[in-house]
Order: sequence, then C-alpha cells, then structure tokens
Amino acid sequence: MSAVRSSPDTDVSTQPSWIAHYVNGSRVAQAAGRTGAVYNPATGVQTGVLPLADRAQVDAAVAAALAAFPAWSATPPQKRARVMFKLRDILEANADALAAQITAEHGKTHSDALGEVARGLEVVEFACGIPHLLKGETTENVSAQVDAYSMRQPLGVVAGITPFNFPAMVPMWMFPIAIACGNTFVLKPSERDPSSSLLLADWLAQAGLPPGVFNVVHGDKAAVDALLEHPDVRAVSFVGSTPIAKYIYETGARHGKRVQALGGAKNHMVVMPDADLDQAADALMGAGYGSAGERCMAISVAVAVGDETADALIARLSPRVQALKIGPGDAPGMDMGPLITAQHRDRVRGYVDLGVAEGAELAVDGRGQAIPNAGDGYFLGGCLFDHVKPEMRIYREEIFGPVLVVVRVTSYEEALALVNNHEYGNGTAIFTRDGDAARDYVNRVQVGMVGVNVPIPVPSAFHSFGGWKASLFGDHHVYGPEGVRFYTRLKAVTTRWPTSIRAGAQFVMPH
Ligand code: NAD
Repeated sequence: MSAVRSSPDTDVSTQPSWIAHYVNGSRVAQAAGRTGAVYNPATGVQTGVLPLADRAQVDAAVAAALAAFPAWSATPPQKRARVMFKLRDILEANADALAAQITAEHGKTHSDALGEVARGLEVVEFACGIPHLLKGETTENVSAQVDAYSMRQPLGVVAGITPFNFPAMVPMWMFPIAIACGNTFVLKPSERDPSSSLLLADWLAQAGLPPGVFNVVHGDKAAVDALLEHPDVRAVSFVGSTPIAKYIYETGARHGKRVQALGGAKNHMVVMPDADLDQAADALMGAGYGSAGERCMAISVAVAVGDETADALIARLSPRVQALKIGPGDAPGMDMGPLITAQHRDRVRGYVDLGVAEGAELAVDGRGQAIPNAGDGYFLGGCLFDHVKPEMRIYREEIFGPVLVVVRVTSYEEALALVNNHEYGNGTAIFTRDGDAARDYVNRVQVGMVGVNVPIPVPSAFHSFGGWKASLFGDHHVYGPEGVRFYTRLKAVTTRWPTSIRAGAQFVMPH
C-alpha cells in the first residue's frame, strides 16, 4: 500500500474517484486487488471505486492498531477525553459537510442525515466523560489489613463492522467509547457508503488522535473474515442484518473474541382504540417512511386494536402515503430519498408483489408512482398494506423499505402476543392514553427498546442501544454504560502492605 495525497472522496470530477483505506494516520491506496463500486443512489451514477481489502491489507491495519495500543492505553483517561472534546467541536462545525457526504452515498435527505450526525455526536459527548466512567470500586479492609479494589482496563485492538443505513452514526456508536477506554480500533464500514468513515478519520487526527489508534479498511466478506480470524483482534462490534450478525457472533466467538452483533428488526407499533389517532398517524408516517424505511428502528408493522382503529388509521395514512415527497436527498423539502441500490429497490418491490400474491390488501401501491427528478435513481413510492396476517412473509420478514403493514387484532392481549411471538425484538411502541395498558406493555413485551407514544425509542447516548431475540447476539448492548463494559475488562486487586501486625501463615480460606 502507498500513501495518496489527494482526498479521493471529495474529488468533484465526473469520473468515479478512488477511495482509500486509512491506516496508521494516513490514507493509503490499494496498489492491486479486488475493487467494488460506490453509487449515488439518487442518480444511479457510479461515484467511487472502492478497494476491497484482502487479508494482507487487514493485517496491516491491525498491525498499526496493535503498535499504537501500548502508548494509547497508557495515556491518562482525561487526555483521551480531550481528543473526544475536540472531535465533538469539529463534528459540530462540520455537521453539514458530513451530512452531505452521507446523502451523496446513502441517499437519505439532508435533514435526516443531520439528525444522524447529531445522534452520533451524542455518543462522542458521552465519551468525553470517560475518566468518570472508568472509575473502579474500592472496599477497605476486606480482611485484616487487606484492601480490595477493581478497575476496568481496555482490551487491545477492537474491530467495528457496520451497515449501510447509518454510515456515520453506527461507527460513532462504537469507536468514541472504544477509543476513550484506551483501545485501538479498526473500522470496516459498509461497502455501499464508505466515505463518511474517512471524514471521521481525518477529524479524529485533527482532534489529536495519534496515528494507528483509528484505522479504516474497506471490503466485503473477505475483510470481515480476516478480522474475525485475526489473533490480535480482541473484540468485534457488528451492526447489520440478522443472518450476518449470527455468523459474526459464532465465528468471532469461535476465535476467542468478545462479540456484540446487532441484527435486523421488524418493529411493531400497537395502536390502542383510545390513542390520539392523529398523533399515531403522524408517528407512523415518520417512523414508517423516514429514510425510506431503511432504519433498524423503523416501524414496519402497525398493530391496530379493533377494526374501528384500523379503519381510522388507514383513512388517515393512505392520502399521506400517496402524497409523500420523494426525490433526491439533497433537494429541499423531500420526505424521503431513494433506496440504497437498484437490487435492494427491486427486492423491496418484490416484497410488495409477494404481499399482493399472499392476499394482503394493498391500500397504497407505490410501485408505479411517477417520481419527479428520479432519473436513474433507485426510487420507490411509499406502500401501505392492510389486512396483513401473521403467517404472511411480508409480516414475518424484514423488508427494509418504505412499506408499512397493518395487522388488525381484536384485543390488547392479542396485540401483545403478536409482538412477543415475532422472531425479532429490536424496538416497539404503544400508542395509548391508558397508563395501565402502557405500563403493562412495557413490563411484558419481549423487546429491547420500548416507546410509549414515542415511535422510534432510540435510547439516548447515556443509556445503551440493543434489541432482544434475533435482533442481538451477545451479552452487551452498544454505547452508553454497556459500551464501556464491552470495551473494557474487569480486574480485581487485593492488597496487603507489610505492617507491624503479623498475620502468620494462613492455611484456610479467609472467613
Ligand atoms: P449487512 O448485514 O448486509 O451488512 C453489514 C456489514 O456486514 C457490512 O459491513 C458488510 O460488508 C458485512 N457483510 C455483508 N455480508 C457479509 C458476509 N457474508 N460475511 C461477512 N460480512 C458481511 O447489512 P446492511 O444491508 O448493510 O444493513 C441493513 C441491515 O442492518 C438491516 O437488516 C438492519 O435492520 C440492520 N441494522 C440493524 C441495526 C441494529 O441496531 N440492530 C442498526 C442498523 C442496521
């Protein structure tokens, strides 16, 4: 690998620009090997050529991270925190540029991309408090003249493998805490929208992070496998689809690593008959169609309790789904942009065909919708299904597009059982004015993140994010206090200093 001087991801020429890895503090071009293509999903134009790392390139990034670990882990926590304070300021000043980069490769609207940056920034702010978060516990005099304390120490080189749908925020769920805890980091971002990670790398360097502490290798399964099998990688954080999450968890664990692997979702919003239905419809519009439904916390199932509730919801939603403003994410006033790739758009459209074939009622059909300025972009109109049954594949499987399905149930208990019987357990919400029903739902639902009249209950940075069941493999949720636990290991120390009091030889367990 050789260093490149230009910033390929900001090249304004019409030729696809070469995207670089980022190793040991500089952008490095890949001299040979496989490449992939990066597209602007709003235009269908290829904008980037992406190097796909092989084992040797992954080894180089891990070696840089390993070499940086001794000095970085020995850097006092408050000095590590200062890098996060500076990164926070740089991110705030450049939020617009990062959002533009996200929109250019992901397609989401600029305002939604700004929201993504803001949620990532919160985790950086949380990491600024790392000196306090790393404090251990002490017990004086656990035995005569004996004191005990515990401390949390960093693991070493840790890896992050991230999905396309939040190219800046999901990496920021991971590396700020990992690095602040004293680890060094290798990020393998999504090959669909990889360039945001390079901006983050540049800004970390500007914030004073020493070379080698944060590295980026681009790639696909080959790069991921090289990380999973690498003996110097101590832990892996993964966010993506459930089959890959399971694979990452099992393979990483088999290679002796600590793994947290967050998977897919099918998030239900229960709407009780007493809910404010205008508010519920607003919530379903944003949570179902925002970011074209490509959010792991998107609501993809509305569970209407009672036919009257369902009819009222369909009446409110149908005209609004038809009227969604769809277009390039950098055009003003859009509600949603394109899907990530042509293949994914076709897959989502295939699910709509399937739903019709399965006998669900397609209340709004976005398949043929004329979208102004669509060009060759990967656009699809919003779709709304009514009378969806639990056995249908459009109910059971994650579609990850602008398709909301309505399931009608007759009672609260039926709604709860429906949610609890689903394979996934990422997020859910209940809309009601009944505090008793809401409290019961919070208590009994088998889902990791729950909203009461809040459709997308993403925990703030000082809590932790994670689902249950097939939505998470591993023991720790991401960021917040769970992030600190994941990226550190506990050491317990027992001390006795020579004193004039002799305890003599002890042959029994202390009691
Ligand atoms: P994906 O699983 O296809 O890819 C995620 C990462 O895994 C990428 O970096 C990719 O390069 C890598 N990868 C893909 N195939 C692989 C393979 N066979 N072996 C090894 N690595 C592989 O996911 P995606 O399409 O990028 O993202 C969308 C998915 O992510 C959805 O299922 C969504 O629900 C999920 N997601 C979940 C959360 C969460 O917090 N639970 C958050 C965001 C996205």
